[in-house]
Amino acid sequence: MNGTDVMNGVDAAFGALIAHREEIEELDQAIGDGDHIFNLIRGLEAVRTAREFIAPQSLADALKSVARKLLETVGGSSGPLLSTLLMGMAKAVPADPPSSADFARMFAEGVAAMGARGKSGVGEKTMMDVLIPVSLTFTSLTGEGVPMGQILRALEAEAERGMLNTRNMLATKGRASFLGERAVGHIDPGARSCQIVIAALCELARQGTAERSLV
Ligand code: ADP
Ligand code: MG
Repeated sequence: MNGTDVMNGVDAAFGALIAHREEIEELDQAIGDGDHIFNLIRGLEAVRTAREFIAPQSLADALKSVARKLLETVGGSSGPLLSTLLMGMAKAVPADPPSSADFARMFAEGVAAMGARGKSGVGEKTMMDVLIPVSLTFTSLTGEGVPMGQILRALEAEAERGMLNTRNMLATKGRASFLGERAVGHIDPGARSCQIVIAALCELARQGTAERSLV
């Protein structure tokens, strides 16, 4: 894995978020300030503009470059948090090409760094309600040696479950926390955007796995 793979992931995330732009905007208008999707799109556009710089880089350097760009351009709460996630992953890149278990560990390190930065865990109606269960499932299934196709399906299902769970939660972090009971009944926009990106990355990984098995 290298900078080109990272940019392929960025493109997949960007395309999926663009396709759900209105829906995420409406979710954030209901319990936030409506800017979440625009923040993300602005950030990913800036990263895509830097493709020629990022694509030739190593995996760790490319993740760091994307993290820095997102920090500069996304803004809101989600910019620093997602930047921390990617920086945490970059710091955990192994010396050898990462196995799926290594990748699960990188993701877990990134999610832990993000949780520390946002002081947030499961049940607070945020992006963490998707990221933490996905990370735990990723770690346990790679540890058990489950085939990649099955892991990808499990991660997508876990992301969807985590996203839907936010609907009935009270928010204790972020802008939605100011709404108290009024936030209940609404899916968290950050949880939805994370779930959409995870689904897009799983689809990309599935295509990569299929291509490799043809060779
Ligand atoms: P802001 O609310 O500052 O305008 P964004 O609109 O970019 O920021 O992002 C809103 C999303 O950020 C929320 O839907 C929520 O998922 C996520 N979020 C807010 N605070 C936290 C936190 N402390 N930890 C994790 N995610 C958070
Ligand atoms: Mg916002």
